[in-house]
Amino acid sequence: MLRELDVSLITSTIRDLCIKVTHELSADMISAIHDASEYEKSELGRKILCQLKENLDIAKSDNIPICQDTGMAVIFMEIGQDIHFVGGNLNDAINEGVRKGYTEGYLRKSVVSDPLIRKNTNDNTPAIIHQSIVPGDKVKITLAPKGFGSENMSRVFMLKPAQGIDGVKDAVLTAVKDAGPNACPPMVVGVGIGGDFEKCAILAKKALTREVGSHSEIDYVKDLEVELLKKINKLGIGPAGLGGSTTALAVNVETFATHIAGLPVAVNICCHVNRHESVIL
Ligand code: SF4
Repeated sequence: MLRELDVSLITSTIRDLCIKVTHELSADMISAIHDASEYEKSELGRKILCQLKENLDIAKSDNIPICQDTGMAVIFMEIGQDIHFVGGNLNDAINEGVRKGYTEGYLRKSVVSDPLIRKNTNDNTPAIIHQSIVPGDKVKITLAPKGFGSENMSRVFMLKPAQGIDGVKDAVLTAVKDAGPNACPPMVVGVGIGGDFEKCAILAKKALTREVGSHSEIDYVKDLEVELLKKINKLGIGPAGLGGSTTALAVNVETFATHIAGLPVAVNICCHVNRHESVIL
């Protein structure tokens, strides 16, 4: 039996999520920054991490955004195939939620309507929307506004299959080294392996929304996450790029089937303001 869901609920949910995630990080990110401030080896690095913690506290208590770059709204929607949306167009409803969130929440409007003409849309729309159809009659909305300091440092590598897992490790380390301080470290590194050109990039983006501190259920992928985090933290980039042992808080890797002739790898880097929150309706 179909379940009817009025799209006005999608709008109000996304509006509230936009305001919430830009003012308050999720518990996994808060505790990762807190832990890093204790185990960071550099004194300056510890000081910076403590300032980041203070910044998070002030943002929450004084109701101001964690960072002036409140990001481009990225939305993943897993839509149950037994839902029938009523009351309007779903994509319009999503963008209306973003428009309301960014205007009513006094968040920075960071979106231009054309990549070269560059006229600001003044309401942070359109959002980047990824939709997938899943079994059931629920919809899961994940909002992850993305800052572009770190987005600009993200990369796609179309490796040859023979380059194997060592090629993947080199690709991730190259992307992180090249990002350096520009990605506002400590970073969270999302990695997508497999699929095709665009699928690996979406996997890498989705990987950023996975809880920091969690690991892949695939044994070799979990090992890869652990090894890459260790290697990245030996690069010495450190908090704010001023040196130290905390360059990344986590490496999250997602994989997918691919073609016999290819090994696509995407590295989507996020700064320490890794905003993500999910709601199930
Ligand atoms: S990359 Fe992140 S920390 Fe840096 S300016 Fe953008 S949102 Fe802020």
